[in-house]
Amino acid sequence: MRSTLENPLKQVSEFLSQSPLKAFIGGEWVPAADGATFTTRDPGTGAPLAEVPAMGAKDVDRAVQAATRAFRTSGWAEMTPNVRGVLLHRLADEVEKHKPVLARIEASDAGKILAQAEGDIQNFVDTMRYFIEISLHVERRTPLAVKGHEATTVRLPWGPCGFIVPWNFPFLLIGWNISPALAAGNTVVIKPAEDTPLSALYLGHLAQKAGIPGGVINVVTGYGETAGAALASHPGLKRMSFTGSPEVGRLVAEACGRNLTPAKLELGGKGAAVIFDDVDIETTAAKLAGAITFHSGQVCCDATRWLVQRSIYDRFVDQCVGRLKAVQVGYQLDPASQMGPVVSAKQRDRVLGYLERGRAEGAKLLLEGGPASVPGRNGFYVKPALMAGELANVAAREEIFGPVAYLTPFENEAQAIAMANDTDYGLANSVWSADLDRARRVAERMVAGNSWINAHNVFAHGVPYGGINKSGLGGGVLSFETYLDYTRGLSVVRPL
Ligand code: NAD
Repeated sequence: MRSTLENPLKQVSEFLSQSPLKAFIGGEWVPAADGATFTTRDPGTGAPLAEVPAMGAKDVDRAVQAATRAFRTSGWAEMTPNVRGVLLHRLADEVEKHKPVLARIEASDAGKILAQAEGDIQNFVDTMRYFIEISLHVERRTPLAVKGHEATTVRLPWGPCGFIVPWNFPFLLIGWNISPALAAGNTVVIKPAEDTPLSALYLGHLAQKAGIPGGVINVVTGYGETAGAALASHPGLKRMSFTGSPEVGRLVAEACGRNLTPAKLELGGKGAAVIFDDVDIETTAAKLAGAITFHSGQVCCDATRWLVQRSIYDRFVDQCVGRLKAVQVGYQLDPASQMGPVVSAKQRDRVLGYLERGRAEGAKLLLEGGPASVPGRNGFYVKPALMAGELANVAAREEIFGPVAYLTPFENEAQAIAMANDTDYGLANSVWSADLDRARRVAERMVAGNSWINAHNVFAHGVPYGGINKSGLGGGVLSFETYLDYTRGLSVVRPL
């Protein structure tokens, strides 16, 4: 099949010219057992990029068996963190060396602005290195000071772990997920989203180049209801990590529960930005307009409810409307574009549907939004939109996952906190104020996993990131504790 990727680098076109691509199981490249494939497309043009294996239960079983074998026999689990660290640093080096290739693959498959895709690839590298460093310093054996006993706790890897990831940050989220697991000595089976399978497959090539033993990293591609469901319900997995929607998260947790497999869920959000009247209006509007258009608003932790103190509400709205109107929507590989397409026709229809439903329930459109056309590109483009009205509105309650923010004025601090916490989700909120005492006070009263001050979408390795309520279960990512999640404790005791 001929790929229609635009301006490809040689390595990108070589990779795509192998279409139909194969999945990566046990260190080998394999098609689906029944030969089925699906097409992955460029959301900026709607054109096909490659055919990819549409795998099912048989293939998933093969991958879990390969990961189990590698855990038991490849020596990976028994290596000292140092020796594993050498191999994982090689993998991080390969990823960094191939950043231009991976970024182009990711940008084309996910509809990401190229510079943002480059940032995602670098983030994978930084995450891998962060967890390697932790693995070098965690004590594997800790003696316990217990009267009358010689007692020790030992930290060991679990075994084969499953990872199901979404399409919005495909490669970055693979990094967040597998890095602590691998550094701790587990083996992994990754199921990328059907909209964005390509960067995960390219990772397989780089794992081979880096000398990671076969079966330590496996990639199975396919649809959620088939490959994803088979992985979630596989009794051979020792842990499962799922990143995606609360609806599918519940299915994955149910399937894992039946096998008593521990599951970590990182789910959606409906974050608030609480904006007090002492802010610099221009700067705050610029930052929030930047956040809501970043990756076309397809960001789980985005601020999608903007709660604005009434005395500055009109001036703030004017600033935001002006900034969002000026956003250049265009093809993701075009350097002039500031916001690319959404990932699929389905996602575009979802965004447009919420504009309609929100309006039908009485929301006012401060900035109309709607489909955007990009000359010569038949992709899935939408314009940024701003809605306003009651917080009971469907567009203020449900996750839209597009460049749409919902504004509501508030009178005082207590009301702002109550409004921000009036949601089923609990991922990330931000507080904006020149009064840092007030900002910290309000930040600490937010019912969510993360509160940011005078910024939104703040990530740093070492700061735990995770959700509560409908936004997540089981721990979070990016911190020292995440590493510990991928080790099991064993106590070894001798009475004296
Ligand atoms: P999704 O839940 O539809 O799909 C996520 C993954 O699950 C995909 O790989 C999909 O193939 C798979 N899947 C689908 N049905 C399945 C099933 N029945 N069994 C097992 N797996 C199945 O989510 P999406 O649309 O890809 O991603 C968007 C969602 O992800 C949003 O809700 C967003 O907020 C959330 N998200 C959360 C975080 C976080 O860190 N909290 C990060 C990114 C995205």
